[in-house]
Amino acid sequence: SKVIEIENLQLTYAPKTSLQRQALQNINLTVESGEFRAIIGPQGSGKSTLLQVMAGLELGLGKVVVDGLDLSQKKNRRILWQRVGVIFQQPERQLFEDSLYNDVAYGPKNMALTSEEIERRVKAALKKVKLGEEYYPLSPFKLSGGQQRRAAIAGILAMEPKILLLDEPTAGLDPRGRQEIMNLFTELCRKQGITTILVSHDMEEVAHRADKVTVLHKGKVFMEGCPQEIFARG
Ligand code: ADP
Ligand code: ADP
Repeated sequence: SKVIEIENLQLTYAPKTSLQRQALQNINLTVESGEFRAIIGPQGSGKSTLLQVMAGLELGLGKVVVDGLDLSQKKNRRILWQRVGVIFQQPERQLFEDSLYNDVAYGPKNMALTSEEIERRVKAALKKVKLGEEYYPLSPFKLSGGQQRRAAIAGILAMEPKILLLDEPTAGLDPRGRQEIMNLFTELCRKQGITTILVSHDMEEVAHRADKVTVLHKGKVFMEGCPQEIFARG
């Protein structure tokens, strides 16, 4: 079934100068449940804006339905925020608690869950990102860059989102760290069926992982297809 349905989406940011810029033009796009979709394109092509629209954080013109919610309505955007996990570039900046454990517990604690359920989720999330119990009491800021990235991801996973929206989630990591994070997201999608939308400017990174690739260019869908089709056409 379709998890994301976008028809004729247009988005123009409020102009700072008289030169008005359309960030997204006539976007049509559907994503199936459990799919791993990559959105690629050069800088400024509209990738982040499209992800923000899917997250209900930016509002454009046209039809945008995510997980059955019509996002033109504010009440639906609020409901969606409990179902999607959004990971922005450099997500370690989202860390702020005194210990790794409490940082990951922060989201679930705001979800009216029992303390047993919170504990279960925190431990499960930290296990998925391969941070063992010895790390639980440490300040998130004492962790390495790659570990901080994983900690931030655990904080999102602990909220058990149905959909993951990832904006260049490996930016700034070394090749090994990038590989680890990409393996993690691939596994979450494949094993748990979490619908995953990954924004990247790195074609190689997504080539062998995505079910389907959408290429944006100047705010429009330039190409769409399975990775083999897209990369064969160059
Ligand atoms: P990408 O993620 O592909 O780099 P963006 O979605 O960030 O592209 O940007 C698309 C266009 O919208 C660019 O021209 C960018 O300058 C513009 N833009 C992005 N965010 C804003 C904003 N908050 N205000 C005004 N213009 C923006
Ligand atoms: P809070 O900081 O919200 O009061 P608690 O300290 O009461 O949380 O912890 C609740 C549960 O979470 C504990 O029973 C424990 O199993 C687990 N926990 C919390 N911190 C740690 C830690 N540093 N190492 C291992 N488990 C922890």
